[in-house]
Amino acid sequence: TAGVVTLGESMAALGSPAPGPLRHAPHLTLSIAGAESNVAIGVRRLGHPSAWIGRVGADEFGRMVLERLRAEQVDVSAARTDPAAPTGLLVKEQRTPDVTRVQYYRSGSAGSRLCPDDLAAPGSPAARLIADAAVLHVTGITPLLSPTAADAVRHAVGLAAAAGVPVSLDVNHRTALGTPAQLRAALLPLLPQVTQLFAGEEELLLLADAEDEAEAVNRLRDAVPELVVKRGADGATLHTAAGVLRQPAVPVRAVDPVGAGDAFTAGYLAGLLDGSTPAERLRLACLTGAFAVSVASDWSGLPTRDELRLLTAPPGTTLR
Ligand code: ATP
Repeated sequence: TAGVVTLGESMAALGSPAPGPLRHAPHLTLSIAGAESNVAIGVRRLGHPSAWIGRVGADEFGRMVLERLRAEQVDVSAARTDPAAPTGLLVKEQRTPDVTRVQYYRSGSAGSRLCPDDLAAPGSPAARLIADAAVLHVTGITPLLSPTAADAVRHAVGLAAAAGVPVSLDVNHRTALGTPAQLRAALLPLLPQVTQLFAGEEELLLLADAEDEAEAVNRLRDAVPELVVKRGADGATLHTAAGVLRQPAVPVRAVDPVGAGDAFTAGYLAGLLDGSTPAERLRLACLTGAFAVSVASDWSGLPTRDELRLLTAPPGTTLR
């Protein structure tokens, strides 16, 4: 199969190397960012195929996005280069050791111009990837990028459902992109096709428009076979028809929380492709999430299969 196939926007990412206001940074680091491509990289590192579908600009940032993904062996054969708009940009400022500020320059970007035509007729590279996927993964970011991107997500989910491909959705609410009402309007119609739903505790309340978690879980549990709630340093919870599973977090020295959610989702989906039990998937997800928080970068610290045991090594361990 094509493994985990995902679509969304990947951008160039500038980051400050040390804490402080960005305007005083002596230089910036350059990398790529994007929730969906992070998941694709995470799944690939764990040994399963993955593919990323999206648009980049006809510029150096766009070439960098595709090159990095190719270097991670993520299939980008269905990605498109848009000559009419630039690649989006994200700037990550480490304002204090504990507070990160992220600024986006993505409105009108190539990535936000994704449209149903990019997935086009059956037989197109993207449509073929989706039909061959073990799982289609989408997020709540993409539909809020533009009306055409929202249509593209709906179209992709429709293609997956028609081919009997499971659909994973991470709420991934970005307040800069839309209100909770806009998020609900974009995501609730997708839920009948969704098989794995990932949400943080606050996102769960937003999506269900509920006052408390019990009410939110009640509203969503019957809509999706697997509802996974991410709880940061408190681990995660999985709600299925069979009941509730709780998994504590793996204790680590947390350096950077950004990207933990994507790493977690990658671990969960890789577990699904492994054919492991729900409890094993949840355990792998918490382990990969913990890996991500223990490294300053969004995705470069994502573990390979044989690195998974490193996190349980005692402090000061040297491996030779
Ligand atoms: P993101 O910042 O990427 O949006 P998120 O809010 O989607 O993250 P979190 O709940 O912060 O997701 O983290 C996802 C998972 O990563 C958690 O469920 C947990 O398993 C793991 N994790 C997060 N923070 C920590 C931590 N401090 N220590 C250990 N594990 C953690």
